[in-house]
Amino acid sequence: MTFDHETLSLLSDALKQLDAGFDHLPDVESTADADALARVLGEVAVRMRDNYPYQHPQYIGQMLKPPHPMARLAYSLAVFLNPNNHAMDGGRASSRMEKEAVADLARMVGWEEHLGHLCSGGTMANFESLWVARELRPGEAVAASSLAHYTHSRLSSVLQVPFHAVPVDAWGRMDVDALEQLLEAESIGTVVVTLGTTAAGTVDPLDRILPLREKYGFRIHVDAAYGGYFRLVQNLRDETARAFAAMPAADSIVIDPHKHGLQPYGCGCVLFRDPSVGRIYRHDSPYTYFTSDELHLGEISLECSRPGAAAVALWATQQLLPPVPGGEFAAGLEEGREAALELHEWLSEDSRFVPLMEPELDIVIWAVRAEAASESSRRAREFFEEAERRDVYLALASFSREMAEAAGPVDEWDEESVLCLRACAMKPEHREWMGEIVGRLEEA
Ligand SMILES: *Cc1c(COP(=O)(O)O)cnc(C)c1O
Repeated sequence: MTFDHETLSLLSDALKQLDAGFDHLPDVESTADADALARVLGEVAVRMRDNYPYQHPQYIGQMLKPPHPMARLAYSLAVFLNPNNHAMDGGRASSRMEKEAVADLARMVGWEEHLGHLCSGGTMANFESLWVARELRPGEAVAASSLAHYTHSRLSSVLQVPFHAVPVDAWGRMDVDALEQLLEAESIGTVVVTLGTTAAGTVDPLDRILPLREKYGFRIHVDAAYGGYFRLVQNLRDETARAFAAMPAADSIVIDPHKHGLQPYGCGCVLFRDPSVGRIYRHDSPYTYFTSDELHLGEISLECSRPGAAAVALWATQQLLPPVPGGEFAAGLEEGREAALELHEWLSEDSRFVPLMEPELDIVIWAVRAEAASESSRRAREFFEEAERRDVYLALASFSREMAEAAGPVDEWDEESVLCLRACAMKPEHREWMGEIVGRLEEA
């Protein structure tokens, strides 16, 4: 078996405990036809087999991490009630749990005071950050590195804000000199600093960008959708650790609990250092049901209805695994990083491959050594398929010549980019399984 079946019965026990809180009400009969449910559910199970095995440690491809059993159970339990965290009236308990869970994340980034909430994911969270930035710095542009998430340029266009891409160095980090040239030439209101790029897990040097803010006076938005939790880990390189240590100086931060925080999809988080930006969200819709004086999360969120279940799942997970340095959760991230370094070391010794850079977090990128870029790309695709035949599931990602050239995977650049293999060692189990994974890749 590859899924966790053991914890399933806990759900039924917890549902009884939840129900006991409502036993002053008359009973309600279930109208569900169990045979029909079982038939369709069986069809669902069969349909869902058509997937890569994301739950298994031999899946080490895209940025996919199975939710913790705690998150799965708490989410499922909450869905019986299905609270809506738009307002206290739609979900009192889950709104309070959201505020507590988000405050824990704010504390993780070094903020005792903050304004923040959960949302559907990193894209929405970045959208809110860039929208607030535009309201505060109207008419000024957004700058992000060429490895920043592709949605920043699209969101800027939705917000009708000019967007500038800043080149990266050979390690995939924002080139600070190039940023300064841009700051000299253009009116930049916001610099997006990515701590953990989606493609390569590289970390922009936030600590070296801060002095430029003194000089040029822009807002700093940290996109740590993927990498934010690495602030907790202790086995980073010094320069990477310095970037994460500078996080408290950001104006806004995005972290996705559904990336590295063991949550099901539908859980992003946006945080602002200055709580007074809440005024920008002000609205007085007639259908909103704000009946108490307590802060309703719908007053500080662009989205209206939001799943209370996502907040409950995050709260429960953080009760069990608090996001603090030295804790079990942090240890899990450290194990993933060790697994990535082990894979990198094996690749460095195998003459077939050329790693593009040493992993900065837990993502490993490598090219296939070849005469020409086009041939390297073709062989990367073949290796990806060969690995899959041996039940190791990798991913493919295209990198520009600008980024790949320094590692020297090819002699001739007949194309301006090269397709590389990519592994995200996001599961703590990857450390234990790396021997097995490497053994299978050796044969591929
Ligand atoms: C994943 C990611 C996003 C987008 O987040 P979604 O949750 O997929 O919407 C944005 N920025 C970075 C750095 C990411 O890794």
